[in-house]
Amino acid sequence: MTLGITMESLTLGYGRGPVLRDVDLAVRPGEVLVIVGASGSGKSTLLRAIAGLLRPRDGRVVADGAEITATSGERAMVFQDDALLPWRTVRGNVELPLRIRGWSKARRRAVAEEWIARVGLAGHEDRLPRELSGGMRQRVQLARALAGAPRAVLMDEPFGALDAQTRAGMQALLLDVLRDTQATVVFVTHDVDEALLLADRVVVLGHGAVRSVIDVPCPRAPATGAADRAGLRAQILKEL
Ligand code: ADP
Ligand code: MG
Repeated sequence: MTLGITMESLTLGYGRGPVLRDVDLAVRPGEVLVIVGASGSGKSTLLRAIAGLLRPRDGRVVADGAEITATSGERAMVFQDDALLPWRTVRGNVELPLRIRGWSKARRRAVAEEWIARVGLAGHEDRLPRELSGGMRQRVQLARALAGAPRAVLMDEPFGALDAQTRAGMQALLLDVLRDTQATVVFVTHDVDEALLLADRVVVLGHGAVRSVIDVPCPRAPATGAADRAGLRAQILKEL
């Protein structure tokens, strides 16, 4: 059920020059692939193409042998800024993609409640987004993304606007929920330490291309391999 995603000779851009040129990259089924790069290097652009929100100028993105040409519930997105519907409650926001998929009300309700509890928001089901802190809103986004059991989760600097302590809590929560899902994850960040905490592999973007793809040994085990990690960190920072 996990999804592999392949970028083939992908060129992306908006107006004049391309933002990314001739990208060949395969996201392995079930891995956490983290994309890092300086601001403006094309991280969001690449994620948008994988989501089906941006048509390639050249080349293609393929999932399960089929070219991605539109968004799909199979590929859930989580954004940095709060993409929740302000007039819907926590429950209403989490249930929305399930409703779009045509799930029965009872099933929607049960799965939404399970995920709201999973992200630590039990008891807050009837609150509106404006009544929540930034960290709580990102928890709702995470619950909404995962409730529909997507085959891939695409995350664009989801914790970028949070204070350090809240961010660390969200990283721990994400690691926790990812242990129970088979979803393939593409995670964008400009934070190298966040990348090394989460990734199986780190892709460094720069100068309109993929600069390098780095394997992370012992992913998601911060207690081990601290020396390795320092080396990787230095390597990534050099590429950036
Ligand atoms: P990153 O996410 O790495 O900060 P982006 O992918 O957002 O970078 O942007 C890459 C480049 O594309 C930047 O030069 C940016 O100005 C440009 N860009 C991004 N979105 C648009 C858009 N909607 N229209 C035109 N140019 C854009
Ligand atoms: Mg961006």
